[in-house]
Amino acid sequence: ILKSFHGFHPAPQRLCSRFLSGPGAPSWNDYVRPKEFNFASYVLDYWAQMEMEGKRGPNPALWWVNNQGDELKWSFREMTDLTRRTANVLTQTCGLQEGDYLALILPRVPEWWLVAVGCIRTGIIFMPGTTQMKAKDIVYRLQASKAKGIVTTDTLAPVVDSLASEYPGLKTKLLVSDQSCKGWLDFRSLIKSASPDHVCIKSKTLDPMAVFFTSGTSGLPKMTKHSHGLALRSFLPSCRQFLKLKTSDVFWCPSDTGWIMSMLGSLLEPWTAGSTVFVHHLSPFDPKNMIQTFFKYPITYCLAAPSVFRMILQQNPTSLRFPTLEHCCAGGEALLPEEQEQWRKQTGILLYQAYGQSETGVTCGIFRGMKIKPGSMGKAIPPFDIQIIDDKGNILPPDTEGNLGIRIKPVKPLGLFMCYENDPVKTEEVECGDFYNTGDRATVDTEGYFFFLGRADDIINASGYRIGPSEVENALAEHPAVAESAVVSSPDPIRGEVVKAFIVLTPKFLSHDRDQLTKELQQHVKSVTAPYKYPRKVEFVPVLPKTITGKIKRSELRKKEFGQM
Ligand code: ATP
Ligand code: MG
Repeated sequence: ILKSFHGFHPAPQRLCSRFLSGPGAPSWNDYVRPKEFNFASYVLDYWAQMEMEGKRGPNPALWWVNNQGDELKWSFREMTDLTRRTANVLTQTCGLQEGDYLALILPRVPEWWLVAVGCIRTGIIFMPGTTQMKAKDIVYRLQASKAKGIVTTDTLAPVVDSLASEYPGLKTKLLVSDQSCKGWLDFRSLIKSASPDHVCIKSKTLDPMAVFFTSGTSGLPKMTKHSHGLALRSFLPSCRQFLKLKTSDVFWCPSDTGWIMSMLGSLLEPWTAGSTVFVHHLSPFDPKNMIQTFFKYPITYCLAAPSVFRMILQQNPTSLRFPTLEHCCAGGEALLPEEQEQWRKQTGILLYQAYGQSETGVTCGIFRGMKIKPGSMGKAIPPFDIQIIDDKGNILPPDTEGNLGIRIKPVKPLGLFMCYENDPVKTEEVECGDFYNTGDRATVDTEGYFFFLGRADDIINASGYRIGPSEVENALAEHPAVAESAVVSSPDPIRGEVVKAFIVLTPKFLSHDRDQLTKELQQHVKSVTAPYKYPRKVEFVPVLPKTITGKIKRSELRKKEFGQM
């Protein structure tokens, strides 16, 4: 096992010896389950110590920049100091306690990292949420979690205040701003005067740590509750092998702070490896700015949604040969082989793929250095045992479409969500025999590579053929007229259901004859994929409906087709 870390930082062995030593201690592997784990004390404080001993390079722990030219660099020692102060602000000034819920609704400001880790130090369960939320989204989250506190900016403070009658349960309101606001505690000044001495809680690995909201691609967002085991999972050999991060890496995950991807990519994964977390306060998301950022800062690693890579490619810049970028990984939505290939051609870097959910964290992926199979989302990342199962939980053979399931019996693996908060019915619903059913349809080949077909609801059943939207979308993407497309099922009096494509055209094709283009695109799909998949209906649209995360809401288009909206 130790050999597998060769070439990486020594943290896992050292850290593991801290909590796994003693007679009869299990050897360090993907299946260990120490009773206690706390990311703040085991990871952050460890790297702070390494810095003090001169055993970590000069790169900061957090490197934050914005469009106004502001820049901030914090070492692990500073992070430790500041997050201990934050822990004291949360418990002493705000009176929050272990087990209380705190809504954390901040843009990519450095304080997001302070509050998240401050909560981990104190056992306060934090709930990241995107700042793009509106009043009704916020009140839904507060009510569902019975949150005791909220941390947000001056833009959202009045919105929160307007909800006081609907949700009177807020004991603490913390403001991150340079201005003050009546009724709100000023985080920036409190932290300056708070004590840097704080004793981290000894959290049990399976104690709750955070609640993440799903993207709401298919309905209302669900609250997935995670234990400290989620952070421990980043620590396991398989996760380290997946990303293969070094302390010298500068890791950029531009995902919104409201999503689990940000928690993994902007906090847990890079810091576990002692790497630098790079943050750009880009707001709103701007691909041109992203390109400049890749040229300006020594970013080595980027984890983002496929749409981010897609938008960068669509800029048609003169060069995408980034000086320091070494590795890219896309996750959160289907990555089309066409985009993967374009990215490789233009940047010279392979675009890897990962698959995960708010419920599961990173689930499978192409490990760094592993052979890429176009369109595959990679292999299972232990301790997850992933199988393709039928609706009763029976394992299906390779190359057979089924549900993507994660084994939860006899033992639920580390990193899998505890439950949907306040929703035992839904929690039970997703259990399927010995498995957790992700609700996604996929196949696995004989080498263990998984291929995503679509969300169970998105699969089209046309004249007995089962068609995953991304197969058709990928074929369409190869045509120069198509900037983006969404393929859904549409009712048909004879066939029952047919394939319909909603297409956003590239600027060059906007003035083309639509009937002609429809025929051409249909012909194109027939020529590059099995002809039965071609879209019998085509509609050109200026934009596609998307979630705040930028995922295509196929369910919305489908409901419209079936007249349910
Ligand atoms: P909701 O559950 O509220 O409808 P959501 O499922 O989009 O929203 P998330 O937890 O953010 O919320 O996203 C997880 C889903 O994203 C997966 O279940 C899958 O459908 C999709 N996904 C993630 N990674 C990939 C990938 N590599 N390829 C295809 N789809 C992916
Ligand atoms: Mg989901």
